[in-house]
Amino acid sequence: MRIARFSHNGEVSYGLVLGVESAAEVPGPAAGPSTANGTATATGAGTATGAGTANRAVSAVSGSLSGPPDPDPLGHEGSQLMIAQLAGHPFGGREEDIKLTSIRFALADVRLLAPILPSKVICIGKNYADHAREMGGEPPEEPVIFLKPSTAVCGPGDPIFRPTQISERTDYEGELAVVIGRLCRQVTADRVDEVIFGYTCANDVTARDLQARDGQWTRAKGFDTFCPLGPWIETDVDPADLAITTRLNGEVRQDSRTSLLLHDVRSLVMFVSQVMTLLPGDVLLTGTPAGIGPMDKGDQVSVTIEGIGTLSNLVTDRD
Ligand code: MG
Repeated sequence: MRIARFSHNGEVSYGLVLGVESAAEVPGPAAGPSTANGTATATGAGTATGAGTANRAVSAVSGSLSGPPDPDPLGHEGSQLMIAQLAGHPFGGREEDIKLTSIRFALADVRLLAPILPSKVICIGKNYADHAREMGGEPPEEPVIFLKPSTAVCGPGDPIFRPTQISERTDYEGELAVVIGRLCRQVTADRVDEVIFGYTCANDVTARDLQARDGQWTRAKGFDTFCPLGPWIETDVDPADLAITTRLNGEVRQDSRTSLLLHDVRSLVMFVSQVMTLLPGDVLLTGTPAGIGPMDKGDQVSVTIEGIGTLSNLVTDRD
């Protein structure tokens, strides 16, 4: 499933992202059995996550998105997509409780928001060997973790504000983000898949000069808008070997694969959960590959991850 958070006429909801043809296959109350409150289950006979119509519909969307990544999925590609509103909130409950309403929008008619507002964003530093080397060192043996405040999160299409009054260099860092689905701590290898809800794209925006000056990274990584997330959460992708590409004004600047992560997704979730309790919706950024660099006012930066989508943001300066 592709789960997006969106705003339409000022109302914020979650929805399933579907192809236009696929959306027509997903029964609403008119076609499927209604529940007492007038909503229909996603499959007409089951759930949004079962092997029913919704899953087939989303598979159809995934198929249409294979091939070279589109740097602007909300432009050409976005015009081919629909969003089916969900009843309620997809986190914290059982997957089988995720239910569709009958309400559909063209994706072009809604504003996509950050797909989740996490209680915390846990980030991994130097988790690709080539990036560790470009930062002037060898990769650490254990994962290096740091936090971004929840207030750094912004959504697809939102501006990234450079804090130009106190920093002279604001960098992009394209990263695979893991979204946690359950409250958990001290997660073991046999349970780790149960606590991962899905994946999205992230940009670990960094005031590079402040990172060097401060020694610790809270200020450099923590400005408002320094954690774009989106465009949606993909729940059905295997994170083991996905292409990850960052473009600046359409030009490729980072081009790698998640198979080159020094510590993989599962081991990172287990590692972090030894330190802190993870809450539903918490986000873990898995590190950036080589090719980091600065952004200027007016630049468009996009992070594309195979099988997930593209997160694009414009860069501007805070007055
Ligand atoms: Mg990073």
